[in-house]
Amino acid sequence: MFYTSTRDKSIKVTASQAIAQGISEEGGLFVPCEMPQFSMDKINSMVKMSYIDRAKTVLKEFLTDFTEDELSYCVEGAYSADKFSSAAIAPTVHIDGNKNILELWHGPTCAFKDMALQLLPYLMTVSAKKTAEGKTIVILVATSGDTGKAALEGFKDVDKTKILVFYPVDGVSPMQKLQMTTQEGENVSVCAINGNFDDAQSAVKSIFTNSEIKNELAKKNMMFSSANSINWGRLVPQIVYYFSTYCDMISMNKINAGDEINVVVPTGNFGNILAGFYAKQMGLPIKMLICASNSNNVLTDFLKTGTYDKNRAFYTTTSPSMDILISSNLERLLYHMSGNNDSLVADLMKQLSENGKYTVSDELIGKIQNTFDAGFTSETDVDETIKNHFDKYNYLCDTHTAVAVKVYDEYAARTGDDIPTVIDSTASPYKFSKSVLSAISGGNTPQLDEFSMVDELNRVTKAEVPAPLASLKEKTVRFNNVCDKENMSEMVFKLLNL
Ligand SMILES: *Cc1c(COP(=O)(O)O)cnc(C)c1O
Repeated sequence: MFYTSTRDKSIKVTASQAIAQGISEEGGLFVPCEMPQFSMDKINSMVKMSYIDRAKTVLKEFLTDFTEDELSYCVEGAYSADKFSSAAIAPTVHIDGNKNILELWHGPTCAFKDMALQLLPYLMTVSAKKTAEGKTIVILVATSGDTGKAALEGFKDVDKTKILVFYPVDGVSPMQKLQMTTQEGENVSVCAINGNFDDAQSAVKSIFTNSEIKNELAKKNMMFSSANSINWGRLVPQIVYYFSTYCDMISMNKINAGDEINVVVPTGNFGNILAGFYAKQMGLPIKMLICASNSNNVLTDFLKTGTYDKNRAFYTTTSPSMDILISSNLERLLYHMSGNNDSLVADLMKQLSENGKYTVSDELIGKIQNTFDAGFTSETDVDETIKNHFDKYNYLCDTHTAVAVKVYDEYAARTGDDIPTVIDSTASPYKFSKSVLSAISGGNTPQLDEFSMVDELNRVTKAEVPAPLASLKEKTVRFNNVCDKENMSEMVFKLLNL
């Protein structure tokens, strides 16, 4: 299996090259050159497997330059029982009728990013050994909150790696901020920036491709890589849980092997939903992929009209991990759906960076609409959904999950499509205690500090508080750096002692 770039398909690299490098030289994203195919028999044979074995079965088709031993070492290290609070790793919970929730937040940082970022450091260090012998890998991360913490936790004290995380100073929840600023580990740094997530992500992307900085790093025997979902090593682990939830739906007698399901994904950078698309391309019977957004509804507009336009107001919402106007992974979808048209993708991405917008042909958007539906929610809808679901089913969702639940309810009402559906739940409600508590109590939030808020939410709902969040109370803040977005490259020099 080889990988190419969305902006230049003459490029051909192995999985370990794609993972160690993170992003292609000319700025494109690595994509697989072909799609492994899973028959229904093969999928059925995965029903009895553990999550770890399901992961090995899927990943070995993509990581063909990893030996069986290397792959086992990576997967068993990542999804070990002491790191995840559920033996199923990613359990599927039946809510009502055809509605099911895939809980992706039982990892060490209580957000779905752990599903990929527990595995990525293993994939990256094995890849670096194969392709960049001796070099220290410097992971640069732009985060809207959850990626930063999950990446810090995944890479802390991993030999021959360093990690630098940038987050928008006012764009993350108090719990997310505490999780990052108290991070332990000798090889980690965290810095707030005066700007939003898109500013942080754009600056990180330009640092990656800045040859002056790369040369300085090379002198010190270091190289950059990325832990954002532009890295193939972040995406490929996410394909696994779509197969896994399908198998669980069979075991739970919610479907028969071969039945179609819908999948609903609270979306920001388009990584999670794209992994669902790859699973579908591989033969998993997914009918519609439903893309759920908050008030930052740039993707809803694109999927409905074919015009992507980021020139619009940016809203800070109660689902901050989805406060994004540039969804990087859409580039990969455009590549696959346009019949691998690299020059079209390069041109669209140029328009996006120069004018902030582009429009695709009717034919292309029509093709995308056969698989993707979309919707968005207001902040009031999110609060009502959290409250209704708790009152009706005694099920507590976080704000991101509530966006997806609401968009699904509207989709089902609009289309009458009532086949069994899996809604991705991407964070523990305790990561966003204040917003969730306020929703449950009809808008009255007591003025409490973050930890008292957690206790209060626990008192009101009786939902279990994840241990990693409870233990934050005892930790000290280690990182207070703040810089302007224009000065991020100087900060990188400083933090790396270049
Ligand atoms: C990152 C994140 C998302 C968005 O996922 P993408 O893969 O970027 O689309 C949604 N919810 C939560 C809680 C997240 O952390």
